[in-house]
Amino acid sequence: MKKNSKLLTNLLSLFYPKICIGCKKILQENEDYLCLECLLHLPETNYHLLHENPLEKIFWGRVKVEKVFCFLFYRKGNYVQSLLHELKYKGNKEIGAYLSAIYGNKLKESHSLDGIDLILPIPLHPKKLKLRGYNQSEWIAKGLSKTTGLPYSTQYLTRETFTETQTQKSRFNRWENVKNVFKIQNEEDLTGKHILICDDVLTTGATMEAAIHKILSVPDTQVSVLTLATAQD
Ligand SMILES: [Zn+2]
Repeated sequence: MKKNSKLLTNLLSLFYPKICIGCKKILQENEDYLCLECLLHLPETNYHLLHENPLEKIFWGRVKVEKVFCFLFYRKGNYVQSLLHELKYKGNKEIGAYLSAIYGNKLKESHSLDGIDLILPIPLHPKKLKLRGYNQSEWIAKGLSKTTGLPYSTQYLTRETFTETQTQKSRFNRWENVKNVFKIQNEEDLTGKHILICDDVLTTGATMEAAIHKILSVPDTQVSVLTLATAQD
């Protein structure tokens, strides 16, 4: 059976070879999603190596955030955008875990996550979850957990109401929309913990801000944020 499925895989790859999302070259058997060349040239922010980084300033005066980690820069047309598109709209959930595992390794090496107790992915609304079939942030949490050894959980931070697509709305309206969408379950387990919230992209983020506020409403908690990518001007 195993032999047959290997044969089938080989046959399939003959007709449908795996292609590098970055440069579209055919991937080697030991490569996934990206060829070695593209993997080595990912546009990394390296913000975890700075004492203070520009993304932390986004939250100044709005909500208290300890650290903001962000792996990659995306620009219109670069392959980080293609990776994120695969992750969110093409059902390619494993890409989330793949990228975050790489990032987790780097963060572990630099001791950047020391002091963090638990990873919580930003939840999708159940309706959206049903449509997409998975929460991309959960896959990011999964990959991070794998290489950092930190636990992750989807049970503490949950989402209640469906928000309409938010792109057309003003920032004020967006805030009104998302302010109350998050709920905390089993609050006592989070007390005194430093939580790392993760998501795919960091934007000016009313949603992220609402989630942070919610967690900080639990006594004695601290929050840091991690995303796979952020827009580069
Ligand atoms: Zn490539």
